[in-house]
Amino acid sequence: MWYHPLYTGGIHPDARFPRDRYIRVLERLTPFISKSEEPADLEASIRISNPKPIKREHLLLAHDAEYVDRFLAGSLTEKEIRRIGLTPWTDDMIQRTLLLMGGAVEATEHAVQFGGISANMAGGTHHAHRAFGSGYCVFNDLAVSALHALNNLNVGRVAVLDLDVHQGDGTATALQHVQEALTVSVHCDVNFPFRKSISDHDLPLAAESGDMLYLEAVEEALDLCFNHQPELLLFQAGVDALTTDALGKLNVSRLGMKQRNDMVFERATKLKVPVVVFMGGGYAKPLDHTIDAFEDLFTQAAQWSMGQGSTPPHVR
Ligand SMILES: [Zn+2]
Repeated sequence: MWYHPLYTGGIHPDARFPRDRYIRVLERLTPFISKSEEPADLEASIRISNPKPIKREHLLLAHDAEYVDRFLAGSLTEKEIRRIGLTPWTDDMIQRTLLLMGGAVEATEHAVQFGGISANMAGGTHHAHRAFGSGYCVFNDLAVSALHALNNLNVGRVAVLDLDVHQGDGTATALQHVQEALTVSVHCDVNFPFRKSISDHDLPLAAESGDMLYLEAVEEALDLCFNHQPELLLFQAGVDALTTDALGKLNVSRLGMKQRNDMVFERATKLKVPVVVFMGGGYAKPLDHTIDAFEDLFTQAAQWSMGQGSTPPHVR
């Protein structure tokens, strides 16, 4: 798992975005973090690495040079920054973004090289488009990672499974013409973004759908992903479908989210498809509910990667 203190520290303390989520999830995972290189047991099976900043050439896999260079020079317009929304903006946003993107790329490289499950404890920045950021997303880590895997890591086919309550609009447009990359998005139809993109497969759900309908859609999404026969699964694991989320509207329980995670990890593990977990959205009030769901997500990932995941009960 990749993590950096700037994931929290690079965002202004007055920002509306709940920046404490990163440091607080890390605190929750502390009992599970291995001190040595080789994880000895399930109680200490998560290894934390600090990312290096992403290289410019990797950003260019999914983004226009003009946008990348203006961001790197700190010269985005007020309007562009407002659309991203991580305001008040700080100078650290540049370094934070490069580290966050670096974490995604390194987690992807690790999954491709060693198999199993890796994760970046941030990101899932699916609203970023080729030439502009949006909805708390500067660059699109899913699109960059997919294209890095296809172009540079000798991966033949990638599936992007986006289970965040918001549509993966930026990812869908960035990968629209890439046949080897399949994009599948399960989301609530009345949520942001109000103008949806077209993923390879969109599975929109009505507000207040709840656990059963959500998990049925997840199962369908998994069928679609694995029919693509991916050699790598990029999992946008946002937990903003939770009942108490302030921005989602799907009314999914904590248990429902746990079942979702098990369904994803079970399929991927059985088929030996490496998985990269991207954190995604989570804005519950109280924030503890979001932290609980992310703790579940990452500890379940650790269990499955140690061969100790448990098969979820059948949805239907
Ligand atoms: Zn979201």
